[in-house]
Amino acid sequence: MKLNATQLSQKLIQIPSYSGVNEEVLNFLGNYLKNLGFTCDYLEFDGENSYKVNNLHAVFNPKNSAKVLYFAGHTDVVREGDKAAWTHDPFAAKIVDGKLFGRGAADMKCAIACFVSAVAEFLESNANPDFGIGFLITNDEEADGVNGTAKVLDWMQKSGKKISHCLVGEPTNPTKFGEMIKIGRRGSIGFKLKITGKQGHVAYPENALNPITILISLLKILKDHKLDEGTKFFDCSNLEITSISSQNLGGNVIPNEAEAAFNVRFNDSHTSQSILDLVEYACKKTVGFGATFDLSHRTSGESFLSDPKFLAPIVVESVKKITGQTPQMSTTGGTSDARFIKDYAEVVEIGLINKTAHQIDEFVEVAEIEQLQKTYCEILRNFS
Ligand SMILES: [Zn+2]
Repeated sequence: MKLNATQLSQKLIQIPSYSGVNEEVLNFLGNYLKNLGFTCDYLEFDGENSYKVNNLHAVFNPKNSAKVLYFAGHTDVVREGDKAAWTHDPFAAKIVDGKLFGRGAADMKCAIACFVSAVAEFLESNANPDFGIGFLITNDEEADGVNGTAKVLDWMQKSGKKISHCLVGEPTNPTKFGEMIKIGRRGSIGFKLKITGKQGHVAYPENALNPITILISLLKILKDHKLDEGTKFFDCSNLEITSISSQNLGGNVIPNEAEAAFNVRFNDSHTSQSILDLVEYACKKTVGFGATFDLSHRTSGESFLSDPKFLAPIVVESVKKITGQTPQMSTTGGTSDARFIKDYAEVVEIGLINKTAHQIDEFVEVAEIEQLQKTYCEILRNFS
């Protein structure tokens, strides 16, 4: 049965699929794609201190072209929480006043549905395209992300599956469709810093060493330091202090220790190592005279830019044609699986609206599902 993008979205939302194992949602997608002529591989990956994950790889490449446009996305959704708090059942996929409600509507089952529907429409008038079309769908992006996209890409490389360009269907627009596409991301590194001084009486500071005073001046140096001026597609890198604490031993006691946490979001003029070097240097220069510091860090991702040379301009023109609006090429926001794909292909993220993602009463406008479907069609038509 042929379904339009909205009907397909509903079908996908009606299969609850939390991160990890879920064969039902991928079998549904795979069967649909097989009917369109795709060859499907169901890939199950396990290990590396993470749980088992179902993934789907599907490709249609009649001319065995080196140029293959992939669509990458995830079928897993975050938990709905208290169902009673939802106005409509999170898995009923109800349409009310032009809005489709459900867990995964914005992030990102509707985008998958739009691309499937766009491919079906495209192949009706171009049964033998001179480029390949592929799907890389994982059921684990929202949680560990260990046995998902990264492993499928590795499997693709080892089994000789070509990928030259890739669209990622994460929700990229802040308020309405057509505002924003993404071509990279800032990196993120979090720090915990502990200063140890010497405890003492506030009336006799000469006998003590106040770690709070040292911590505050060090944080001010770090915060005041201009990391860069921003780069072509990135805002300035930024450090934000997220907590300051000490032992709170009483109004007349200088504590022994003080701690702070801070996070740096950095652009492509840095790496996590260069940020770490800089913070360590500031600590070494500032902390002395008997005080010591202990610095720990955790990198959540390096910054990256996928050079917008071929696919990104097509995406921009397609959005413009469908919505009349020129989307901004942005590198803002949290992380996505595009960080793995950028090592294999030019990658552009374009999806729906991220405003209600992960929220109670997550929804998307049906009109925007239709716009996204048309935009994906337009991209396919202009791709070769
Ligand atoms: Zn997502």
